[in-house]
Amino acid sequence: MKYIVFDMEWNQTRGQEEMLSDGRLLTGEIIEIGAVKLNDNFVPVDTFKTYIQPIFYHKMHSRVKKLTGITNEILKDAPMFDEAMEMFLDFCGDEFETITWGDSDIPVLKENLSAHKMKGWSAKNYDLQTIYLKQTENPARNIALETAAEALGIEFTENLHDALIDAAITALISKKLDMRKGVDEYVFKIKDLSELDHIGFETVKKLDNLQKLRSDPRIKYTVCPYCKRPMLSDRIVSQSSAKKLLKASCPEHGEFLILLKLHKQQSGKYTASKYVYEWNDDIEELYNTKLEAADKKKDKFLARVRAKK
Ligand SMILES: [Zn+2]
Repeated sequence: MKYIVFDMEWNQTRGQEEMLSDGRLLTGEIIEIGAVKLNDNFVPVDTFKTYIQPIFYHKMHSRVKKLTGITNEILKDAPMFDEAMEMFLDFCGDEFETITWGDSDIPVLKENLSAHKMKGWSAKNYDLQTIYLKQTENPARNIALETAAEALGIEFTENLHDALIDAAITALISKKLDMRKGVDEYVFKIKDLSELDHIGFETVKKLDNLQKLRSDPRIKYTVCPYCKRPMLSDRIVSQSSAKKLLKASCPEHGEFLILLKLHKQQSGKYTASKYVYEWNDDIEELYNTKLEAADKKKDKFLARVRAKK
């Protein structure tokens, strides 16, 4: 097995996240991929780097420009996304697994592939941050790449936030860890739905009262991705003001999880994107965690209300 340590830089929109024409959300548009290939003994054997010309978010966000040093001028003649992905997959080869620092790259990669209507991403990914925290017995939940590298005595003078430099530092960190053990003991756990591929998608436009979401039939019912019959959903589990979870079931095709993402439009009304996921053990665990958190939050709120009386 080969391991591809990779990192990406992506551009964002100014202010509110924009939706693509079909209602799908693109958090960030990938503008650079950098990677280091490791052989099955975790020894670096090759590197890869490409810039990518954006087609959705053309103008470089000032913050991204400042952080990465990537300008529109640099991207002007860069390959298009599909071309860059082809080069990247070529570099990865037939059989590979990936290693990233943190868990944000894979969801963004999946969003970009979907926005370009390309085949999904299925390579197994190891978050090196998780392996690092475990092997250094660090109780923190997150640690910056730079901090981890410094703690391991890795010296570098290059500027971070260049995809290849970040991938190279990630590879250097892996060299200091017991990667065989890290990979063998790795527990794949879904932290966010964006790590999974959805099997159904709907958009609901012009929602004006978020308090009455539950009674809107377009929210209440979702079509089964297989037989297209309407499924009545359960209670709405609030993850945040903009993210809600619903559970629905088809008598024939079983249960599904629905993620509702709400975006406020300029008109003041809301558009909701509904993503439908196949129900499985991972989804169940994720749903129960969110359900518990939502219930706790509600209890806290009610206790506060009672205390005021
Ligand atoms: Zn069905």
